[in-house]
Amino acid sequence: MPSPSIVWFRDDLRLADNPALRAAVDRGEPVIGLYVLDEESPGIRPLGGAARWWLHGSLASLRDRLAERGGALVLRRGAAEPVVRETVRDASAGAVFWNRRYGGPEREIDTALKSSLRDDGVVARSFAGSLLFEPWTVKTGGGTHFSVYTPFWRAATHGPAPRAPLPEPREIDGASAALDSEDLDDWHLLPTRPDWAGGLRETWEPGEPAARRRLREFLSEDLDSYDRARDEPAAGATSLLSPRLRWGEVSPFTVWHETVQTEGGGKFLSELGWREFAWHTLFHFPELATTNLRPEFDAFPWPRLHPTQLEAWQKGRTGVALVDAGMRELWRTGYMHNRVRMVAASFLVKNLLVDWRRGEQWFWDTLVDADAANNPFNWQWVAGSGADAAPYFRIFNPELQAKKFDRDGRYVREWAPEHLSEHPPEPIIDLRETRNAALDAYEHVKRAA
Ligand code: FAD
Repeated sequence: MPSPSIVWFRDDLRLADNPALRAAVDRGEPVIGLYVLDEESPGIRPLGGAARWWLHGSLASLRDRLAERGGALVLRRGAAEPVVRETVRDASAGAVFWNRRYGGPEREIDTALKSSLRDDGVVARSFAGSLLFEPWTVKTGGGTHFSVYTPFWRAATHGPAPRAPLPEPREIDGASAALDSEDLDDWHLLPTRPDWAGGLRETWEPGEPAARRRLREFLSEDLDSYDRARDEPAAGATSLLSPRLRWGEVSPFTVWHETVQTEGGGKFLSELGWREFAWHTLFHFPELATTNLRPEFDAFPWPRLHPTQLEAWQKGRTGVALVDAGMRELWRTGYMHNRVRMVAASFLVKNLLVDWRRGEQWFWDTLVDADAANNPFNWQWVAGSGADAAPYFRIFNPELQAKKFDRDGRYVREWAPEHLSEHPPEPIIDLRETRNAALDAYEHVKRAA
């Protein structure tokens, strides 16, 4: 009797460098791919709209790629623990393999599942596939975790280099292991009424093959100008790998190894280091999306919300050129350049005095790369409440930022051209006055520290 192996795919929607898939294939029994859409387990954050759109495309691609090699992807919905156990029973599976997740609720689910499967005599094994350095492996001299990026990255990269990526399996023996699957379309991950995803479709192609193509193209065509031009939103100098890393269509090990074979990738790799650091922070502080990392920020006197100002920010109608351009890029494409993310976030938190959690939630809903660690980590970084954060009193001036990083106005012309017209819109607030109000409010934090 065959005893199939289940590969439980999560944020690792790829065949190459997928240690869980590799282990399943090496076990020599039929392999079943499983994806569980978990909107029920306590604490699991529901995906935002743009992320759901990406997930649909990425699952369709994974399903096709598995099928080409003889495998199959079973789709099921519900709380992960009972769904995985039920799938094990349905398939009479002898083993379940997965790549580890690092969020608090996810870890609880995975730990409980591992022990209940083992109690039932089913092999359950997990692997490192989504981070170069698992959070508990990087420690300060005193054995604690890091709260500052530079020593974190120094310590992480001081040890053995990240392992080489694993080749993708050429053949998968899945034929005898077909199981009932839900239909991807029935999950309604794509928007219909209204279909707001036109800009996403024009901009992106989810799935592993497109991710690998983009990595190769970036390394051969753009890496040279990365150091010089990465802060200029119109330059197209960054990798655009963030959604691909978010969904694990390409592994950080692959990105790392292909980059070190190319000259001059140090700065780019250090940006990957920020991703590692954000996850390190989330692992040690699972409430990152809801709670100030620095508790003195709990004393920040957020004024009553001004809904029309929040809406103006969301829609890119603040009258501030770089902010409006960024927010419209985000709405249209599900992406915003990093420099503009910082400026738009700073404007919300420090000029409109809106709690960073509202901005984080908006980005969570609208970004295709919405990431459980990177998003709250960076919002807290901008707000000043986070790990190794920008000091609160350093307030970005969006006009100076535009002069510096969008000198010829190319980016603003693309996304918010009316700002370059003879009668540009007026800002909804006075930048200098609001800056001073923010600094006054910050005094409360200083007193609480
Ligand atoms: P590149 O410059 O090519 O960088 C390569 C990779 O390094 C990125 O794909 C990403 O995985 C990682 N990286 C780069 N910068 C950062 C950073 N500051 N923090 C963590 N990882 C980084 N990034 C997300 O992936 N998801 C998010 O939800 C997210 N939310 C953000 C919210 C705010 C307010 C800010 C200021 C930044 C946020 N970032 C987020 C970080 C950064 O803006 C994006 O990773 C980057 O713009 C993605 O473009 P790229 O892949 O071309 O970047």
